[in-house]
Amino acid sequence: MLNYHLVLTRKCNLNCVYCHSGEVTGPDTEIQYSIDDLAAFLEKDEDIQLMLYGGEPTLRTPLIIDLMERFPTARFMLQTNALLLNKLPVDYVKRFHSILVSIDGPQVITDGYRSDGVYRKVINNVQWLHEIGFVEDIVARMVVSQQTNIYKDVRHLLNLDSSFNHVHWQLNVIWDAEGNWTDFDRWVKESIIRESHD
Ligand code: SF4
Repeated sequence: MLNYHLVLTRKCNLNCVYCHSGEVTGPDTEIQYSIDDLAAFLEKDEDIQLMLYGGEPTLRTPLIIDLMERFPTARFMLQTNALLLNKLPVDYVKRFHSILVSIDGPQVITDGYRSDGVYRKVINNVQWLHEIGFVEDIVARMVVSQQTNIYKDVRHLLNLDSSFNHVHWQLNVIWDAEGNWTDFDRWVKESIIRESHD
């Protein structure tokens, strides 16, 4: 099965230290094709999986609804910072096969990278998913950067009252924000090599 990533917008309502997507502006921030174009492109694929991605895809809720209406048998996944998750219509939220929620670990780590108050909003909105009866996969999508202790921070997320089914962590080594690392080699030695031997 092919997984198609649709960048619904490059704009974001956050401005995380390792990304700065909140600073993205200009005419090329939005998709440049119609849903008819997309349908024509996907026509020969009988088993479609669409990952809704950004920027922050929940900034384009009408487009999410249009896509779900147009592709009723497709499998949808969402990658979101979760700040607006509880603003999406419940019936459409329940159509997601999985929701990947950006959160980087405990409050001090998440808010340090992402902004004050983000951790609490994300946890509240993940709780909201459970309250509305969302039973599909909820994945904590974690960026690992200089302040991170992988072992402790992953454990924190896994121990959060069954909020997340899985934790997916990824090293912050591909985005282009400057100044993320003051000494990457030392961090690798102290946070990965030494931790894994303790
Ligand atoms: S990391 Fe995600 S939530 Fe943060 S600014 Fe970039 S796109 Fe937005």
